[in-house]
Amino acid sequence: MAVPRRKFALSKRLFIATRADFVCEYCHTPEDFSPDLFNIEHVIPLLHDGTDEDNNLAYACGGCNGN
Ligand SMILES: [Zn+2]
Repeated sequence: MAVPRRKFALSKRLFIATRADFVCEYCHTPEDFSPDLFNIEHVIPLLHDGTDEDNNLAYACGGCNGN
């Protein structure tokens, strides 16, 4: 069963991006140098009982986010 992707509020997105210093938290590519749109990703997927809490969210580039 697929869990629909959630949209995060801009304020949440900005908080996670700022916390990550605008680099992908997996491969450390700066957002400015990536052609991809960065996204907020669940470290533990919602399917596996992950939550929308800040400590379960990471800033990720398209490659690391599986786009
Ligand atoms: Zn990445």
